[in-house]
Amino acid sequence: MEYEERFRQVQRPIYDCLLFDLDDTLYPLSSGLAVGCRKNIEDYMIEKLGIHRSKIPDLCNLLYKNYGTTMAGLRAIGYDFNYDEYHSFVHGRLPYENLKPDPVLRSLLLSVPLRKVIFTNADRVHAAKVLSILGLEDCFEGIICFETLNPTHKNTASDDEDDIEFAGSMEIPSNNTRSKEIFDIIGHFSQPNAGSVLPKTPIVCKPSEDAIERALKIAEINPQRTLFFEDSVRNIQSGKRVGLYTVLVGNSQRTKGADYALESIHNIREALPELWETDKMSEVSYSGKVPLVETSVTA
Ligand SMILES: [Mg+2]
Repeated sequence: MEYEERFRQVQRPIYDCLLFDLDDTLYPLSSGLAVGCRKNIEDYMIEKLGIHRSKIPDLCNLLYKNYGTTMAGLRAIGYDFNYDEYHSFVHGRLPYENLKPDPVLRSLLLSVPLRKVIFTNADRVHAAKVLSILGLEDCFEGIICFETLNPTHKNTASDDEDDIEFAGSMEIPSNNTRSKEIFDIIGHFSQPNAGSVLPKTPIVCKPSEDAIERALKIAEINPQRTLFFEDSVRNIQSGKRVGLYTVLVGNSQRTKGADYALESIHNIREALPELWETDKMSEVSYSGKVPLVETSVTA
C-alpha cells in the first residue's frame, strides 16, 4: 500500500501553470452564449458578406471543421472584412445577462498557488466582459486572445508570409468586401477529385498546433508543467500533441487526448487536489509520463 502510494507520487507531474479556455469552460454551455454566437455569425455572413441563407449550414460546418473558427475559414476562402467589426457584430448582441458572478470559482482559482492564464480564440473585449461579469477579472496573470495571436495588420509589408494576401488586396481599389474571387469550398468537398487546393487562412487560432505553440511561447509556458482546461475535444487533442496535460471540461467522460475530465470547472478541487499541495509536489520527481491517476468527476 505504502509502496503503491510512493510509486504514484513519483509518477505525478509537477505543475506550475494552469491554462484556461474561456467560453463554455469557465461558465456552462447552458448559459446560451454559444448558441447566440452561432446565430450572430450566420447573420453576419448573410447581412454583411451577402452569402445566401441556403448555403449557411454547409458553409459554416465546412469552415469550422477545416479552419478552427468560421471567421478563419471566411478569410481563407476570400472574404475580407474588419476583424473588430466582425467581433462586435458577433459578440455585441450575446445574452450576457445569462452569466452571473461566480464567487465559488473565484475563491477556488485564487487559492491555487500557481500561474493562471486565459487562452481564448475570442477577442479582447469579449474576454474582458465575460471575466468581469463572472467576477474573475483579477484571477489571471494574463489573457491570450484573438488580438494576441493576430496583431492588427497595417498596409505595410512585414516578414510574415501571411501578409502576402493583404499586400495583394491593396492593388485592387474597391469598397467591396470581396476583393478577390471566393473559393467554392462546398464545391471542393462535393467534387473531391476536381483538383482544387484548399486555401490557407491568415488567422491564427485554436485548434492549430502552431497557434497553441505561439501562445505558450508568448506567455513563457512550459507545456510539460501545465494543465490545459478546455471544453473542445479537438482543442484538447491539439493541446496534448504539443505536450500539455489536458482537462476536458463540461463532460465527465474522458476522450482521447484528455488526461482528466470534469463535468464542471467547479469540480477542479476534487479532481486535482494536488494543485493545492504544491509543497508536496515539489518534493517528487517528474518522470515525464502521463498522470497515473485518471480522474473523472461528475457534478
Ligand atoms: Mg470553449
